[in-house]
Amino acid sequence: LTVVFFVTVSCAQSKMHLDKDKAIEERITLLMDQMTLDEKVGQMNQYNGSWDFTGPLPESGSEEEKYEHIKKGWVGSMLSVRGTDKVRAVQKIAVEETRLGIPIIFGFDVIHGYKTLSPIPLAEAASWDLDAIKNSARVAADEATAAGLNWTFGPNVDISNDARWGRIMEGAGEDTYLGVKVAKARVTGFQGTDLSANNTIASCAKHFAAYGFAEAGLEYNSAEMGTSKLYNVVLPPFKAAVDAGVRTFMNSFNTLNGVPATGDTFLQRDILKGAWNFNGYVVSDWASIREMVVHGYAADGADASAKAVTAGSDMDMESHLYVKELVKLVEDGTVDEKLIDDAVRRILRVKFELGLFDDPYKYCDAEREKSVTGSEAMNDAVLDMAKKSIVLLKNDGNILPLKKSGQRIALIGALAADKNSPLGSWRIAADDNTAVSVLEGMQEYKGNTLVYEKGTDVSLGQQLFVQEVKINSEDYSGFDAAKKAASEADVVVMVLGEVGFQSGEARSRTELGLPGNQQELLEAVFEINKNVVLVLNNGRPLALPWAAENVPAIVEAWQLGTQTGNAVAQILYGDYNPSGKLPVSFPRSVGQCPIYYNHLRTGRPVNSQDNVFWSHYIDSQKTPLYPFGYGLSYTSFKYENLKLNKSQYTKGETIELSVEVTNTGNLDGKEVVQLYINDPVASIVRPVKELKGFELVELKKGETKTVKFTLTDAELGFYNNNGDYLVEAGKFNVMIGGQSDKGLTGQFEIE
Ligand code: BGC
Repeated sequence: LTVVFFVTVSCAQSKMHLDKDKAIEERITLLMDQMTLDEKVGQMNQYNGSWDFTGPLPESGSEEEKYEHIKKGWVGSMLSVRGTDKVRAVQKIAVEETRLGIPIIFGFDVIHGYKTLSPIPLAEAASWDLDAIKNSARVAADEATAAGLNWTFGPNVDISNDARWGRIMEGAGEDTYLGVKVAKARVTGFQGTDLSANNTIASCAKHFAAYGFAEAGLEYNSAEMGTSKLYNVVLPPFKAAVDAGVRTFMNSFNTLNGVPATGDTFLQRDILKGAWNFNGYVVSDWASIREMVVHGYAADGADASAKAVTAGSDMDMESHLYVKELVKLVEDGTVDEKLIDDAVRRILRVKFELGLFDDPYKYCDAEREKSVTGSEAMNDAVLDMAKKSIVLLKNDGNILPLKKSGQRIALIGALAADKNSPLGSWRIAADDNTAVSVLEGMQEYKGNTLVYEKGTDVSLGQQLFVQEVKINSEDYSGFDAAKKAASEADVVVMVLGEVGFQSGEARSRTELGLPGNQQELLEAVFEINKNVVLVLNNGRPLALPWAAENVPAIVEAWQLGTQTGNAVAQILYGDYNPSGKLPVSFPRSVGQCPIYYNHLRTGRPVNSQDNVFWSHYIDSQKTPLYPFGYGLSYTSFKYENLKLNKSQYTKGETIELSVEVTNTGNLDGKEVVQLYINDPVASIVRPVKELKGFELVELKKGETKTVKFTLTDAELGFYNNNGDYLVEAGKFNVMIGGQSDKGLTGQFEIE
């Protein structure tokens, strides 16, 4: 009798964590009380699962081992498993074959969409349209969850001002204030208001931290940075993600001030889990725990595991080290089991919040997958985002918008017909060649004669991590046909730039011009016909001084995803009035990098008559080719009457500002009204200008609107080198305008 009694109790107890009416923390405790150390460590293990789970067992040793580990309950998460069938197959093993049946969380790089792609994140940031960005993340979550996924490795909230760095395409650009707003929009878009719904996805703020400041823009390189810059520039978007409820973080690959971020206790324990009270979990980046050995920070895998878990890295992505080392490390007393318990509690918390224990197959609805994937609604959403992301850089003589009839248009450039490149980097689940090309988009406008010539080739291998990414620079055989087409055309549209895979991870560049012989093609065509509209494709700022000087119209079209061609055509033909503004400065040459608008002042900032030793280059202008915040419209805007409600304020008081903006052109349009401040004397030298507010305003032709801003201590202060936030008394300069280098100015004082 006694025996039977015990068995009954232990069985009943084993399911108690499934009781939905209990609080999540209690459910976690009930589950953890039953877990062996092996099983706990298993939750901290994440494997890549891009092989076919529905097929026969994989042959290679390591994949077979992964499979065995899943069955033992030693795998808490899988990444890159695609599609409801495969997710279901893996989940079934975890839930039905392991002792405790703990569901797996499925992660994936949903960076700018899953199968239907929106513009690359840098392009989306150029919209400055937070509702649109949020919606873009929302629809991406919809499609990704319909494919079985419940965790995205996004958003990338790395601030970067170095165009050489290929991953600049994944973030929101160089500015922290904009980065904060975009981080919040993306997190709330992905996660929605109810994480347990089957169309919301846990998000991940990455890469923690300072990855965007890798020296010389060289991928994976070290970052060196003082406290003030770290706190003022790098950390705020991460903090904003925490405030918006982001459920996970990812370590960065770089060392920060000599410590690999994965092993950085200051970042993870002191700041993230300490000062910020973050109660989600941290995943390492791919093999970044193992890489601590290569960095020279850990002696071997065991040492690296001990250091990573001590620093606060809760889940091991593909180092295969936690699963191998942590049990031993706890047993021999090197690692305190409390650290394991803390990590596991965090991981289980997110799984409970997602509702995975209540229905482990809730994301595996094949019907929903079919109806959501690639639907018309998805395509409408990404088209809308794509149009909003385009930045008009130049439009001399109003060559744009194009007339809709009676014109001969020559469309030149291999990228114009490319259906793959516009998808951009980080499009793992998208099928190749699924973008609408610019050629296809322009063919929709039937009133003109359209002649296409590729001019030169830009084909490129699509392997992700190849050493050399080169495009043709030798073959000139298409030049004559391109010139002929140009000679017969009223307007020449040239689509030139980078191929989709020339930016992204491991895609640092030392040149920022047009790759291959595209610059020569541009100049050759321009010589024949000066009416050139240059449409740029790129995942980073390019340095194109010749084009900026000579070509009458330049349209920054980035890599705009699935609906690229329709978006570009609608802009070119004026069915959509461009409103994007650069989220990053465009340099004149690579030698200026890093170049960014919110730099500090040197002691010799200006060109004075009697002192030639001012801070400058002797062979180039110092200013960017196109500044941060810059972008034109087919209409024009006038700024007047910058007003402050007072001129003197006490600390803590809210400063109210307003400006009148008028649409002075002949078309309705939208303008991003930007507010910048400068603190001219402070205990830490402050940037020459800092964005502290913006408003996207719609104005009918002739219409005037009063745009209002407020500034509080949250915008006026800064972190010093002790990491303390200070609002200092004194004078402040303020500027409001449509770009970072021009606007109406004013002053106020804080007493
Ligand atoms: C990248 C991460 C990404 C991970 C998983 C790494 O190489 O740095 O951003 O989430 O791979 O694909």
